[in-house]
Amino acid sequence: MSEWISATEERSRDWQLKDLQRLCHFKRFFERWRADSEFRERFQIDPDGAVDQYKLQVDKADLARYREVDLVQILTRRECDECRLPQALLDFRRCFQDAQRQLRWERHHYAPKDPRFRAWRERQIARAYSEIGSVRADEIPFATANYELAEGCSVGCWFCGVSAPPLRNLFLHTQENAALWRDVLEVMVELCGAESGRYHFLYNATEPFDNPDYEEFCLDFYQVVGYFPRTTTAIPLKDPARIRAFLELGDRLGGGIDRFSILSRTMLDRVHQEFTAEEMSRVWCVFMNDGAYFPKANAGRFRDRAEQRPEVIRKELGHYPPLSKAAKMVGPRILPGTICCTAGFELNMVRQEVQLVSPCYADDRWPTGKIIHAQASFRDAEDLRKVLHVIIEEQMDVTIPTHRLVRFRRDLRFMTLPDGFELSNHLHRRLGVRNTTFASYLAEVGQLIDSGSLTAQEMADQLLQSHAVFPAETMGFLNRLFRQGLLNEEPSSTESE
Ligand code: SF4
Repeated sequence: MSEWISATEERSRDWQLKDLQRLCHFKRFFERWRADSEFRERFQIDPDGAVDQYKLQVDKADLARYREVDLVQILTRRECDECRLPQALLDFRRCFQDAQRQLRWERHHYAPKDPRFRAWRERQIARAYSEIGSVRADEIPFATANYELAEGCSVGCWFCGVSAPPLRNLFLHTQENAALWRDVLEVMVELCGAESGRYHFLYNATEPFDNPDYEEFCLDFYQVVGYFPRTTTAIPLKDPARIRAFLELGDRLGGGIDRFSILSRTMLDRVHQEFTAEEMSRVWCVFMNDGAYFPKANAGRFRDRAEQRPEVIRKELGHYPPLSKAAKMVGPRILPGTICCTAGFELNMVRQEVQLVSPCYADDRWPTGKIIHAQASFRDAEDLRKVLHVIIEEQMDVTIPTHRLVRFRRDLRFMTLPDGFELSNHLHRRLGVRNTTFASYLAEVGQLIDSGSLTAQEMADQLLQSHAVFPAETMGFLNRLFRQGLLNEEPSSTESE
């Protein structure tokens, strides 16, 4: 979920205060409904009693209608019978969908300036849609960068999709570190463009508020990049005054959506006691508690546990009622396979290391659902600038390099057809490359790519011999597949070690 409240703010020029309050309180009702299976059950039997129990301020005349629909489906489905929905749900749905449209628009328009980086990221986005599925990919900002201001995380969630180790070190806002940080941000703005900084975030396998100086780093970011960074925290109750002050700071500086990770139902009770619906207007909740209608990603520590205990997956699929038909067909793969949000550079400021990463469906090779395309360390900002340019030079070809072996992505299955070939994967997505006039040419190109034993140049030469097709045409065809993210770009296993 992204940006919904900024869309709300956009609308708020025409809205009355009472409309915004209604929206905030509907959001709170929705949070309870989504997080709490007991509430959902009681709501079906006794809606008035259920909302009274939690002092939820929704219009009771609308409850019967809420009981008839699946709220998550209503929010996410493109089409629905709007005239039958209560105004509060309609407003919430419009804000949600505006926000999703805004995210999709911005992630393409606020792209890196460097054409190689831009083309590389577009390919990773195309790949993600077919590899991890559009439901998950639609939610990913494909941030061009993110930063860790610590090593490890103090929270230690059993399901951690990024397998964060225990908290070890912090990057504190000392004079020296602050200078390095601001210089690093200058380099990243140069590379990514300030606008794409809107989706940069200052955490990953870390908890932002573990760092006592987190706010200082955010303010530096605001001054250098021009945006107040969005934040997800799993410890909003550790120091509510600090969180409240942070939310106010974000409000003043035009910050985007913030998120609270809800780890238990008790935690949601306490969050709702501590923060008013209005205070949380810009905060989206990510429900990781038992009983939430919100699937965990089959990555990192969740995946480790599920491999030992398959019932973990079964239980999670049970939280996925609206997709149960799809779940039957795809099986556990219906669960999100990654929480990685970056198609770009991930910097750890403690270790002064940078990785080029992109989201993928977690597997044995990439158990946290993140491909590490390259990694390096840097001494200072100038060194970082050089390192980034080397990575771009080595990793981000705009067209397929003639000397590189060409093969399909590992998750794609190849099949020849009478008029070409077809690629399919675990999500039952199928892509046909078919043309009756060029059937035998297409079948041979497909077979050669599937064998993975020839470079692009060797392939073009062979097809000149066998089908009298000019190498430039074969290269053009290979480049189309390359742009669509269908060819393997993972580093070889020796490169990634
Ligand atoms: S899920 Fe987030 S809060 Fe929990 S251990 Fe991982 S990084 Fe920390």
